[in-house]
This record gives sequence, structure tokens and C-alpha cells, in this order.
Amino acid sequence: MNLTNIPNLILQVIKKHTSNFFINNTKKHHFNADHYKNREVALLTQHGKESVLSPILKEKIGCIVTRVKGYDTDLLGTFTRDIPRAGTQIEAARKKARIGMDLSGLKLGLASEGSFGPDPFTGMLPWNVEVLIWIDNEYGIEISAVAQGKTNLVNLLTTSWEETEAFAKTAGFPQHHLIVRPEGENDPRIRKGIAEWTDLQAAFTWALEQSQNKQAFIETDMRAHANPTRMENIRVAAEELAKKLSCLCPACGTPGYSIIERLAGLPCERCGQPTHEIRAEVHGCCKCTHRVTIERSDRQYADPGHCDSCNP
Ligand SMILES: [Zn+2]
Ligand SMILES: [Zn+2]
Repeated sequence: MNLTNIPNLILQVIKKHTSNFFINNTKKHHFNADHYKNREVALLTQHGKESVLSPILKEKIGCIVTRVKGYDTDLLGTFTRDIPRAGTQIEAARKKARIGMDLSGLKLGLASEGSFGPDPFTGMLPWNVEVLIWIDNEYGIEISAVAQGKTNLVNLLTTSWEETEAFAKTAGFPQHHLIVRPEGENDPRIRKGIAEWTDLQAAFTWALEQSQNKQAFIETDMRAHANPTRMENIRVAAEELAKKLSCLCPACGTPGYSIIERLAGLPCERCGQPTHEIRAEVHGCCKCTHRVTIERSDRQYADPGHCDSCNP
């Protein structure tokens, strides 16, 4: 069995059981709002994220993403362990958005922050979670969107060019860039953003020459512009953000009206006891207290196989 397919299989199962339900309910609250049309939003990035964020947000909500320069976002944390990130992922995104707004003087701010860890299903595969945050100082709101998926985060400590070559191919090189250091994972001598076979070979030779233990440490470059798999997750998060931003609260008109909670408890088809399956979604406003609970429309009962009483 090919292990890399496990998250895909699980996602397919989740989608199969949930897609109609979520799509139906999202449509009910989708308004074509143009409150962000031609508005400028500050994006602080030095890793090319504007290339995916800008066209999606332009098309879906009509805003203009303005890239803000003049601040080294690597100071807030890197994936190469030299600068650890302070705080949670959402706090880091918020901080970036605020810095972009301060530097540009704009009232709208946008930022993205990624993280990597084991997949939530098997805990065995590398997993990427991308968070996007939208801050609107006029409405006094903050809206976030998340996308996640498998990723190519891997590393190798080696003395062999053949091993390096094979590793690079499995890591999706050269579309996905690589990083090379001598000695090991924490050596400060580093070459990032390697995107050509000749450069990889040169960096490998350089690392062996520099290295006391005659080993080279090679890892995937997880910065957005160096990693198309990660960029795709950012694109999916941008779609989700645009969808949220185009929904207005039916009570107060604030953008960002969306699902804020999913309630479990769909009754078992055999015994009628509540199960862990989703029974309803709560849609809510990020500004006022307006809440609407929408019962699931596609299914009334859960499969007894998912019932703690019938299938303990
Ligand atoms: Zn049951
Ligand atoms: Zn509201």
C-alpha cells in the first residue's frame, strides 16, 4: 500500500460524507457583496504570496492587494530553525497583517502563515496548515481562513550524490526548491532556494568540503515561492477567505458571516442515540451576536457503524 495516499483516501471519505451538506448550506448565505471593490489591502510578504492571493481576491471580492515592503518577515520566524516563531500560528499571521497596515497606512490588512507537522489522521506523514487572516479596521473585524494538506517536508543527511539525487526527485525538485548545509540540520552555513540540478550539485560539493564529518544536510525549502505544494494550500485558503468575505451578516451587514461551529449528535439510524456525526451548523457574525443554527438537510440519521451504542 502506498502510504502517501492515506491522507487523500481519508479526505475523500470525509468529502463524500460532507460535501453536499456543506455546499447546500453555504449557498443559502452567499451574497454578492461589493463592499471591498477597488479597496486596497496591505500584504506584507517577501515570498511571492501575492502571486496567488492577488488574482483570487481581485476576482472574487474586487479588492486590490498591495504588497508592502520594508520589513523582513523572516525576523518573525523561519522554517529553517534559525529564528523560531513566537506565539501561535494565528498570532503570527495577525502580527504580520498589523505590521503591513502600519507600514502602508491602509485600513485593510492581509497576511498568511504556514506551519508543518504530522498529519492528523495517521501522524506519520508531513502535513501543512495554512492560515490567512484579514483585518478590517473600519468594521473592527478579523476574519481567518484555513487550508491544509499533505506536503513534501523531508530531509537527508548524506555523503552520497546518488542518494541526494534520488532524494531530490522524491521531494519534487526542481519545481520544489532545496536547502543545503554542511554537517547537519543546525549548521549556520546555508544555501537556500536551490532550483537547478547544477546548483544542487555545486552546493552538495561545497557542503562536503565545508563539513568536518564529510556529510551534507539537504532539506526541502518550505518558503511559499520555493514550494508549489504549499502555494496551492495558500490558494485554497484564499478561496475560503474570499467566500467568507463575500457573505454579509443578515442582521447588521458586516462581512465575514460564516460557519462558526459544527454541532455533533446526528441520531443513530438503529437506536436513535446521538452520535459524533454532524447534526447542524451554526452560522454567525463576527461583529454582532446574530446566530442561526441550520440542521443538516442531506441526512436525518447516522450510520449505526458510527454509533457508540450499536458499535462500541
Ligand atoms: Zn445506535
Ligand atoms: Zn452581524
